[in-house]
Amino acid sequence: LMNGDHVTLGEADAETELDVRFENKSAKKSGTGCVHTAPGHGADDFAIGKRYGLEVYCPVDNGGKFTSEVEHFAGEFIFKANAKIVGFLQESGALLFSENYNHRYPHCWRCKNPVIFRATPQWFISMDDVMSSAENQETGAQKTDVSPLRSGALREIETVNWHPNWGEGRMTNMIKNRPDWCVSRQRSWGVPIPVFYCRACDEAVADSKIVNHVADIFQQETADAWYNREAKDLLPENFKCPKCGGADFTKETDILDVWFDSGSSCVAVLETRGNLQFPADVYLEGGDQFRGWFNSSLMCGLAAHGKSPYKNLITHGWVVDGEGRQMHKSTGNAVSPNDVVNKSGAEVLRLWAAAVDYTEDMRCSDEILSRIVDAYRKFRNTLRYALGNLDRFNPETDSVAQAELLEIDRWALANLNEVVEKVLRAYENYDFQVAYQTLYNFVTVTLSARYFDIIKDRLYIYAPTSFERRSAQTALYEIADKLCRLFAPILVFTSDEAFENLPHQKLQSVHLAEFPAVSEEKNERLLADWERIFSIRDEVLKYLEEARNAKVIGSSLEAKVILTIDADTTFFLLDYFDNLRYVFIVSQVEVHEGEKFAVEIRKADGAKCERCWNYSPRVGESETYPSVCERCVNALSEIEKI
Ligand SMILES: [Zn+2]
Ligand SMILES: [Zn+2]
Ligand SMILES: [Zn+2]
Repeated sequence: LMNGDHVTLGEADAETELDVRFENKSAKKSGTGCVHTAPGHGADDFAIGKRYGLEVYCPVDNGGKFTSEVEHFAGEFIFKANAKIVGFLQESGALLFSENYNHRYPHCWRCKNPVIFRATPQWFISMDDVMSSAENQETGAQKTDVSPLRSGALREIETVNWHPNWGEGRMTNMIKNRPDWCVSRQRSWGVPIPVFYCRACDEAVADSKIVNHVADIFQQETADAWYNREAKDLLPENFKCPKCGGADFTKETDILDVWFDSGSSCVAVLETRGNLQFPADVYLEGGDQFRGWFNSSLMCGLAAHGKSPYKNLITHGWVVDGEGRQMHKSTGNAVSPNDVVNKSGAEVLRLWAAAVDYTEDMRCSDEILSRIVDAYRKFRNTLRYALGNLDRFNPETDSVAQAELLEIDRWALANLNEVVEKVLRAYENYDFQVAYQTLYNFVTVTLSARYFDIIKDRLYIYAPTSFERRSAQTALYEIADKLCRLFAPILVFTSDEAFENLPHQKLQSVHLAEFPAVSEEKNERLLADWERIFSIRDEVLKYLEEARNAKVIGSSLEAKVILTIDADTTFFLLDYFDNLRYVFIVSQVEVHEGEKFAVEIRKADGAKCERCWNYSPRVGESETYPSVCERCVNALSEIEKI
């Protein structure tokens, strides 16, 4: 056989003529390479048939039965007819051999029945053709310069911000390869396709004037008007068939693909609600919507406005269990959102959603949620600590000017500023995980393990209106205020509750407040210096821990730290010498220059101050306050004056 040969089956069936066409499909597989093609029964065959101009023969009706065209088997359900056809061939002596064998066959995912492929008349939206402007004018369409959907979509895809950015490639491939959009469905109810057929000449009538006329009726009566009204009552008065002048019409019975309904929401919703506008800022859905809503919306947005209906597109993965397996009720590994809300609160569930990487499948289990609960407590306790120490603090009258703040307070605020910058950038990129982690690290490391520990002494010991306490409170107020604002999107209620309780709060809610501004001030030197101090502190804390374990000291305030350190560091620490005892949370510190780094922990000199528990050789000096240290003597005399 040669490509292009025209053959008959010879003696077996002289009436049937066959054309020989070579396709690549069977290449490299076993067999003859001869493939039976039925353009009326399958998409691939239909495409081949179209290419070679074969007849689209489809003698199967809507009920899956052979039509009257089929001699001997008309009216038979096709799968039931199989045995009869074999019998008929046998009887007529045309069958050489027959056997049953197993092979794959597509089945309906829903009812599990074998699928029957049939070529049927449907409505399509073309991906590559567009009406010429002449045709457009003829039908009264407004736009004259329309690009085909496919090329328009490929152009618009580049203007969208894709989160994660692989979405762009995925959508591009999908649009490049998608077939024309089949928008008709054979269902008894739905959004109708507003097309009429002339009874006299069968002409399909669907120009934009008529579609708009029908749309006006739908606006008043809903799309059910299609089912309630006669064709003539849906058409403009005295409408005549443009082809034959006939006046009798039938209605299309197919409905629109539901993806057309959801896809057109970008126009129907965005343009009819006062607080919304086309295009949308964000479309957010699971990865399955590249084929569905993301796709149909892009088509509808392009058709309506020649533009993408979304500026940002966010895709998320699915929730899976702690081991990454799909959740099933039957497996018992499913986590019900309602159970989490009832047990731990919606705040915790929301925080979990912020903490996970939503661009991939997201793990969720009781253990993971309990870690989120821990994080939630840390966040809440941080805000509580700040609020608890801001009692009677008026930010307007009691604040210390930024430049005059104690250096460690400025250090805390410099860190806060970096957090503000990072978190805002993360929110800008819809990267909630980075926002969460940045806030978590700030709260647990910078604040809880360092700053709050160190300023506790100052907040509790110094007189309420003292500069030292006001300096710490100024920083605390700013930290609490900005943290509330930064937490607002992911800790909706907790941040609002804390924000309301900030002293002298004038705003009703954190959700009416702006995000904090990023200060342009560069504090690299300050941050680097304190990083150096904290790395020394980390070492000292290890020795203190050992000394505690060895019962040399009880609490760290019973300790005197003797630090031996190189000349350069000793020189560096000179400026911070008065700070060191508070940074290490001990009563006394000595710094010695030496070759080898060493830390010695001894019992602190002097006696324990009854008030602040620090040790000092000067306890007992005061006659008025004989049981306290010199620092507390000052504080107490100041408090007396109030
Ligand atoms: Zn089915
Ligand atoms: Zn007609
Ligand atoms: Zn004291």
